[in-house]
Amino acid sequence: MLIFDTIAAFQAYLNEQRLAHKSIGFVPTMGALHEGHLSLIRTSLQENTITVCSIFVNPTQFNNAHDLAVYPRTLEADCALLEATGCHAVFAPSVQEMYPQPSSLKFDFGELEHVMEGKFRPGHFNGVGIVVSKLFHIVQPTRAYFGQKDLQQCAVINRLVKDLSFSLSLVICPTQREADGLAMSSRNRNLSAEQRHIAPVLHECLQTAQQQLLAQTTIEVVKQWVSNRLQQHPEFTLEYFEIVDFETLQSLSGVLDTSKQTPAVALCIAAFLGKTRLIDNLVINPQ
Ligand code: AMP
Repeated sequence: MLIFDTIAAFQAYLNEQRLAHKSIGFVPTMGALHEGHLSLIRTSLQENTITVCSIFVNPTQFNNAHDLAVYPRTLEADCALLEATGCHAVFAPSVQEMYPQPSSLKFDFGELEHVMEGKFRPGHFNGVGIVVSKLFHIVQPTRAYFGQKDLQQCAVINRLVKDLSFSLSLVICPTQREADGLAMSSRNRNLSAEQRHIAPVLHECLQTAQQQLLAQTTIEVVKQWVSNRLQQHPEFTLEYFEIVDFETLQSLSGVLDTSKQTPAVALCIAAFLGKTRLIDNLVINPQ
């Protein structure tokens, strides 16, 4: 497996691959890799001639200095995992390489960014827009792979690809979970043993909320139930629990008619567990 830390050397390699008519699958990450990331790599390996992965903890998408400072960085272990999985090349640039001068680009994703993650992490999707655009320009992949775990990010990047006419296909891969239901996340490493024990409550809340919605409980009652449930564990601080239209990400209210709701409804949750911020979601597909 090849490892690059400069844009020029990485692009020279990619140009050779394109000249040899190889399709390029691209998996952007912030490292501290786990099975969730590797599932994206495996899917890409099945669908493309070569698979490349980027590892870059992008400062412009962090609105919380503590979160950026404690974000786990494990490049050596990440490269070993990627090599064992069959990844062909890794791009792990420095901040200086990606941002030789601070970027003042501004993205506006409209209604998609004023809710949920966008509301609680101001500037986050602007940073995502900047780094993903740069990476797409650098890599020019045939296909790019993202996880449904970051559902709003998928919606924003889908809009970015359309608005900027990137010539690539987006592939959204299912959320990988631990045996107890906790969505895999690099941030899980920062949980204490006690916090790790109660972390699956988030996924349990989503599942119970889904059952309640399918049993025609109103969205308002379901939201209150989730809030009460999390308050039973004082270590949790709920940021939001939203029941939204899957495409527009706008909040829904009343009773769901899942037979008519098109195309789908997403249940999205974000909470701090101690100082660690966790997110998860679940999509109810129309019958
Ligand atoms: P990150 O390193 O957190 O920026 O994630 C890199 C990519 O991996 C993003 O597209 C995430 O949505 C995806 N990802 C992270 N966790 C999971 C998971 N548990 N299952 C599937 N994909 C994931």
